[in-house]
Amino acid sequence: MTEIIDGNRVAQSIRDDLSEAIDELEDADVTPTLATVLMSDDPASETYVSMKQDDCAEVGIEAIDVEIDPDAPAEELFDEIDRLNDDENVNGILVQMPVPDHVDKQSVLRRIDPAKDVDGFHPENVGRLVAGDARYKPCTPHGIQKLLEDAGVDPEGKDAVVVGRSDIVGKPMANLLVQKAEGGNATVTVCHSRTDDLAAKTREADIVVAAAGVPEMIDGDMLTDGVTVIDVGINRVDADTEKGYELVGDVDFESAKEKANAITPVPGGVGPMTRAMLLYNTVKATGLQHNVDVTLP
Ligand code: NAD
Repeated sequence: MTEIIDGNRVAQSIRDDLSEAIDELEDADVTPTLATVLMSDDPASETYVSMKQDDCAEVGIEAIDVEIDPDAPAEELFDEIDRLNDDENVNGILVQMPVPDHVDKQSVLRRIDPAKDVDGFHPENVGRLVAGDARYKPCTPHGIQKLLEDAGVDPEGKDAVVVGRSDIVGKPMANLLVQKAEGGNATVTVCHSRTDDLAAKTREADIVVAAAGVPEMIDGDMLTDGVTVIDVGINRVDADTEKGYELVGDVDFESAKEKANAITPVPGGVGPMTRAMLLYNTVKATGLQHNVDVTLP
């Protein structure tokens, strides 16, 4: 029987377990606080930010909602980041990507105080992850580690193929899987848009993490029996639904399920975990900033 890995269930258990750490912080008179910064009028970005705000409210994290006119000069965003960096009541800062074209993304990532960088994208935090001394693991790959753990899949000694090399998913995922640490110790291959013969790589894999953003590009023919499949993709495709589209992953679920011992669905797999791990990093950041030794799930 193929296990369908239920991201909603695992994310709920992470949120439940975080309440212990949040209570420990409350005992020290500290309320974890996340500032979200939105400089966009893209409806998808607005939705992502409001979901993050709702998640915070559910677990008892205070959320500060900062909105900046997308046409404002970049300096306005930088000034706001500086203000949040200096505000000792703010423990985590998240700038919703993408920022407008006239704002240099790398400068934004570097501007955030690395101690408050709960996305884990500041070069200092990226460096620490690579060096095996992670402070804030990026939310999506960290959530995937938790899903693998829940499914009883230990990457140690296994061949893992990561499809995609983005800074937010592919690269940190490969880094986490290769670390000499719990949830790591895999032999990792990173595939991308220039990879020759992707199927030859994925067929060798015990674990496939698909993060290419190409609808249903990985099917059962590209997989070996007993593989664990983690589908990160969230792709809108035209469909005869009320909204006129549906969401599909990077994996053709039905054919992949025939080969897999465990597989994540889309939606309801990786997505909820990404959101839960942002809460985790915010609570962790708060503990570090206030020298409270919090119990993290
Ligand atoms: P990205 O566009 O930044 O990177 C995609 C990567 O896939 C690139 O490195 C590219 O080289 C590779 N790629 C593209 N086409 C390929 C092909 N045909 N064969 C092999 N590799 C190919 O995307 P991203 O930000 O890493 O996101 C990837 C997907 O995951 C998207 O669908 C995105 O919406 C989704 N996503 C989901 C979550 C979540 O929480 N579930 C979080 C982040 C991203």
